[in-house]
Amino acid sequence: MKNIPVVMIIFGGSGDLAHRKLYPALFNLYEQGLIHDNFAVIGTARRPWSHDYLRQQVVDAVHETHNEVDENSLKNFASHFYYQSHDVTNVEHYETLKNLAQELDDRYSAQGNRLFYMAMAPRFFGTIATHINDQKLTGSGFNRIVVEKPFGRDLKSAEELNKQITASFKEDEIFRIDHYLGKEMIQNILPLRFTNPLIKNIWNSDNIKNIQVTLAERLGVEARGEYYETSGALRDMVQNHIFQIITLLAMPEPKAIDAESIHQAKQELLDSLVIPTPEDVKKHFVRGQYAGSDTTFAYRKEPKVDENSTTETFVAGETKFKKGPVKDVPIYFRTGKEFKEKKNRIDIVLKHANTPYGGVHSNNITIEIDPQSKLYITINGKKIDTDGIRRENLTYAFSKEEMAKVPDGYERLLHDVFVNDSTNFTHWAELKRYWEFIDAVEDAWKKENEAGNPDIVQYPPYRMGPKEADRIFESPTGHWIYE
Ligand code: NAD
Repeated sequence: MKNIPVVMIIFGGSGDLAHRKLYPALFNLYEQGLIHDNFAVIGTARRPWSHDYLRQQVVDAVHETHNEVDENSLKNFASHFYYQSHDVTNVEHYETLKNLAQELDDRYSAQGNRLFYMAMAPRFFGTIATHINDQKLTGSGFNRIVVEKPFGRDLKSAEELNKQITASFKEDEIFRIDHYLGKEMIQNILPLRFTNPLIKNIWNSDNIKNIQVTLAERLGVEARGEYYETSGALRDMVQNHIFQIITLLAMPEPKAIDAESIHQAKQELLDSLVIPTPEDVKKHFVRGQYAGSDTTFAYRKEPKVDENSTTETFVAGETKFKKGPVKDVPIYFRTGKEFKEKKNRIDIVLKHANTPYGGVHSNNITIEIDPQSKLYITINGKKIDTDGIRRENLTYAFSKEEMAKVPDGYERLLHDVFVNDSTNFTHWAELKRYWEFIDAVEDAWKKENEAGNPDIVQYPPYRMGPKEADRIFESPTGHWIYE
């Protein structure tokens, strides 16, 4: 489908996400002809910008991400942008916004189609959704809404937000975005699992000892201390990105590769998610804060962070499912700030086979997501000049040229919103299960905090997080593969 008619309204049009991700992604989709003559974008934010100022921002944003651009095409693209100064809490502003949207709809023949994008601080999502409903901003054609993360900060607030959004939008019109689902190797998990008998046949509880997901960041909280204090690693990374990855790794084979079948398979799995008890949390979870060094701040000394903060900048934990191909297999995860390097990877740890050769390596499968996209399988073979066994990696990787062509996650996901494909977006029922799990862990931690002895460890910066995370494994021989 090409040249989709639409008026898109971006709440947070002057923000970082819009500038760095949305404008360049929209330009690429424009170049591909997905949106072309019949679209307009309204950027809204508090600042008193003009249309021309926004257009210049859009041009700058594209220049910052592209080495070469057709300047004429970029100019035409930017001419479709309009700015509306807007305070999300002011009712009258929605009236003005509605009129501008209608005017642009007429001018560009957008057929009453509306796409709303919530690209601002999550505390405003509910207010915006309520006003979209009360002031009747939806159009007479298709109506879709993209909601950024975080979707709530616990189950209760997520339910409240969902209620506010579903007052104007049906579930299939809501696109809860998680940009990890737009990443190359994340989108590759299902094809790798289900097109290779070699992988598919061993992807089960008989052969897999455990699964490990690591999302490691090199940076600290930087200027985001105030926001981070309301979140922490569990809510910021596990509730969304890590759970999405785990779901793709553990779900049963879908009946077909379409949105409905994939979500059905995910839901089947998530219905069997084991919600941890406080004892499980004690045994199989570790939370920590980076401790600073001679040259770096400790988390508790970061600007706008409470000096007695119990907000975790690191978490490691365990998940399990009662159904699916990896039923009862421990799935460990860890994520945190100030690791030795930025690295997102998955390790599938296979059980050792009994061999007449003695100590050999298990055929682990590693999927690297960032900064490189690749997969490798550990293979044992004969050493050339001695009797021993050597270990090699069989690697599936992309060339530099191929990687240069990989679209940014936001471009992929915006494309999917335009063509109404919800495969890589989170359904409410899935999100609900994720929050139930997160709430159970948060509750256990809260009780510890209230008892006055929070078990929160301090860890040295730029290594692998706290060494205490080595003790979460069920098996005494369990250990992190990536270290
Ligand atoms: P930001 O602070 O850079 O931008 C916020 C925007 O909201 C600005 O345009 C600001 O003017 C506007 N705004 C603030 N208060 C307003 C009000 N009262 N009325 C009208 N407009 C108001 O934030 P961001 O980094 O762009 O993040 C936006 C959303 O995207 C967040 O939900 C964030 O979690 C999510 N997100 C951002 C990134 C990223 O790379 N920046 C990545 C993933 C998700």
